[in-house]
Amino acid sequence: MIDLRSDTVTRPSDKMRAAMAAAEVGDDVFGEDPTINRLEALAAARFDREAAIWVPSGSMGNTIAVKLHTEPGSELIIEERGHILNFELGAAAVVSGVTTRAVKSSDGTGHLSWDDIAPAIRKNPPYYQAATRLICIENSHNFAGGSVMTPEHTRELCENAHREGLPVHLDGARIFNAATALGCDVRELAADCDSVMFCLSKGLGAPAGSMLVGSAEFIEGARSWRKRLGGGMRQVGILAAAGIIALEEGPQRLAVDHRNAKNLAQALAAMPNVGIDVERVVTNIVIFDVSRTGMTAAEIVANLKEKGVLAIGFGTQIRMVTHLNVSETDIDEAIAALGEILDSTDFPL
Ligand SMILES: *Cc1c(COP(=O)(O)O)cnc(C)c1O
Repeated sequence: MIDLRSDTVTRPSDKMRAAMAAAEVGDDVFGEDPTINRLEALAAARFDREAAIWVPSGSMGNTIAVKLHTEPGSELIIEERGHILNFELGAAAVVSGVTTRAVKSSDGTGHLSWDDIAPAIRKNPPYYQAATRLICIENSHNFAGGSVMTPEHTRELCENAHREGLPVHLDGARIFNAATALGCDVRELAADCDSVMFCLSKGLGAPAGSMLVGSAEFIEGARSWRKRLGGGMRQVGILAAAGIIALEEGPQRLAVDHRNAKNLAQALAAMPNVGIDVERVVTNIVIFDVSRTGMTAAEIVANLKEKGVLAIGFGTQIRMVTHLNVSETDIDEAIAALGEILDSTDFPL
């Protein structure tokens, strides 16, 4: 099977498995696991921040960040397709008691401008309205097709938010993909954000885990909340050993995934009735519209599966994600399968 459903399906390399087997471990709840301590120090240094903490999942990292930045009965602002709003089961409401205000990005990229955000802020609202306490951004933006936000845009947004007394949390699940696409360092993309979450378990190739990065005080708070949420780990150095390799070596090969995604997007653009803007495919996520093909996304996904290609369909769109276990040849095969399926439909004129 050529699995293009997500970069979460990546399997740990032999090198990672060897490192995991050999990992020096201790009880992390006592702070005694040397390998996790090393990974946390490396992550903090990579982002030029005071501290970092390993969390079992990106969702837990985001949940903890929202909890620490807000109080119950307050509100956070996020782009309407954001992961924190759509794919984390209302954790902001359940764990933090926070209302989520969804805002449209006026340019359709998934990245809010300050002009998009400013009218949605409730700074000193009347007593019957929830006050805005947090702005969440996402880079790259998963369901906006892996689109990226530049360092300049991020800085401007953070400066404005801070002027309003609002912290900014960066959901950087794929921040290394964004940095690769922009040709910059992750530090530049995260410098002005108050906290950053990034995933080791996606394109970087670790079997599990994400990191939350921020000030020493913020990460100390995160350690308590991680434990409270059931994420206090013991000999987690086993996973950190893979995480260290993911962090140190994973980013270097993301450009290959981006090239594969671009090739896939170009082939799709040449197929009749497929809706895709090739220019917007800049990382490892390809989302295309099939509403004009005469088939539903679910039908196309089912046909693809019969031909050995896995993808995710939602509404009239299909998402394909390239990653380290998908080769150039796999992409050629996926393109061929798509061509066969889409050519067999009666195209409306
Ligand atoms: C995958 C993802 C997460 C959450 O990661 P999990 O480890 O699956 O919980 C958060 N934000 C974005 C944008 C993601 O793509």
